[in-house]
Amino acid sequence: QSDGLLGPAAIRELAQQLELRPTKSLGQNFLHDANTIRRIVRTADLRDDDVVLEVGPGLGSLTLGLLPAAAHVVAVEIDPRLAALLPTTVAERRPDLADRLTVVESDALRVTELPGPAPTALVANLPYNVAVPVLLHLLDLVPTLRSALILVQAEVADRLAAAPGSAAYGVPSVKAAWYGEVRRAGAVGRRVFWPEPNVDSGLVALVRRPPPPGDRVATFAVIDAAFGMRRKGLRAALARWAGSPAAAETRLRAAGIEPATRGEQLSVTDFARLAATEPEQP
Ligand code: SAM
Repeated sequence: QSDGLLGPAAIRELAQQLELRPTKSLGQNFLHDANTIRRIVRTADLRDDDVVLEVGPGLGSLTLGLLPAAAHVVAVEIDPRLAALLPTTVAERRPDLADRLTVVESDALRVTELPGPAPTALVANLPYNVAVPVLLHLLDLVPTLRSALILVQAEVADRLAAAPGSAAYGVPSVKAAWYGEVRRAGAVGRRVFWPEPNVDSGLVALVRRPPPPGDRVATFAVIDAAFGMRRKGLRAALARWAGSPAAAETRLRAAGIEPATRGEQLSVTDFARLAATEPEQP
């Protein structure tokens, strides 16, 4: 590729160099299709002063696409072999952009601070089994993030972007909505990855908005409680959270919510209002 992007032959070669056997539990499925990379970067709609946070750069497929479109890329990779190889790959393929890259060898779920300039956009092909917790952790940790574009399992993409009342609406949808407006941003088939996963993927875009008034931790606790017993009405589902079914009813009514409603019908703003109601006096 004249633009330095990694195609199937380059991916094979890099993997051979590392004697890499992709680890399933780390979601190691590498993009080897330059058109998909270009589409992801285009969809991310970056400004040339954006600092991109990339989680799981792997062999560098997406990193090489992001570097020309941004001011800097901070890449967090858990696998030490991949983290160590990335600067070399970039120096060989895009020596002109090598100083735009900061590599952090770390678990994205556990990072508490990041080196380099403050990231403004998250763009990542996320390891599928930790995609939602990684997204929520980073939105919370990095308040300078204005947007996120992530590639995840299609089913997870549907859940993240689901609206209240729809079948896919659940904890990931409500918690993501705390941070911003979320939408599906395209489908990606399984054939553009090596090794090929057994699920299709989807892009999800989030644009940060101010959160609803209220406390995030208290709101997330009531969201977890409400969806813990999905089939029940909120009066029953929230009995333990509130102390008793009667206390749950009082707090629901105080928030203007009918006690027989189910969690699936409430927006994040409803949950924030409910969390802010006065708890039962012991
Ligand atoms: N970005 C590359 C691409 O598009 O080809 C690789 C994407 S692959 C789906 C996921 C990557 O995330 C792998 O490189 C894996 O080692 C890394 N990874 C898995 N769990 C991680 C975690 N908790 N923190 C940081 N990186 C992680």
